[in-house]
Amino acid sequence: MSAHLRDLYQQVILERYKKPRNKGRLTPADRQQRGHNPSCGDMIELTLQMDANQTITDVKFEGEGCAIAIASADLMADVLRGRSLTEALALVQQFQGLLRGEAEFAREYRSLNVMQGVSRFPVRIKCANLAWHTLRYALEQPTTRDSFVSNEDDEARVSL
Ligand code: ZN
Repeated sequence: MSAHLRDLYQQVILERYKKPRNKGRLTPADRQQRGHNPSCGDMIELTLQMDANQTITDVKFEGEGCAIAIASADLMADVLRGRSLTEALALVQQFQGLLRGEAEFAREYRSLNVMQGVSRFPVRIKCANLAWHTLRYALEQPTTRDSFVSNEDDEARVSL
């Protein structure tokens, strides 16, 4: 990655952190899940609305944390609208691949590539992954409404 691209990505992350576009809480929510990243102290709560075909129609998040955790949640929310449950779970896999330094996203998901630089900072990977980890729980276990998921148990999966 060029120094120029790295600077650009850092700018996007800071901009999203300062002015997230998808902050808030949906009521009623079809899926709701809180997530916690103990290693940094990041916390988020995701709320999703889905239609009868299990397509995600809206996503919002509330949370506090570092710039990477918040920017990652905000960028994630952008790309989830209009995706089916299956597509969203595939994106989780692909995003975790990006964090391991694997393939970039193409076309409509290109905005997620700003998180690519995080792969060089192992301690930050969990920050970037928090929203996606929480999303996976929200999609797979819709009944865990009031519980927190911690991403400590996801460590082996994400960091090689
Ligand atoms: Zn963090």
